[in-house]
Amino acid sequence: MRAIDADRLSAVLQKNFGHTGGAAVMQQLIDIAPTIDPVKHGRWICEYDREAGETEVTCSVCKDARTVNGCYVSTNGESLYFEDKYCPNCGARMDADE
Ligand SMILES: [Zn+2]
Repeated sequence: MRAIDADRLSAVLQKNFGHTGGAAVMQQLIDIAPTIDPVKHGRWICEYDREAGETEVTCSVCKDARTVNGCYVSTNGESLYFEDKYCPNCGARMDADE
């Protein structure tokens, strides 16, 4: 997906075309165009419950937590959960660096 910066597009439009008929229509289109949130980057925080044999997986962005069966934590405590590239709750991309 290619995201367009609406504010910059408006500025370019006004600079090059002023408030002529076509530009005014374009400006209206820009004003009503749907916007998307900038991509958020997060990571899965995993805590393994040895007793239950389950891992609590928490999104680092929205803190939405859920429990999955099995161990997704390495011996040095690192998250090994790669099942979801995106958080189903907030849509964050799970590619953030530590
Ligand atoms: Zn999230």
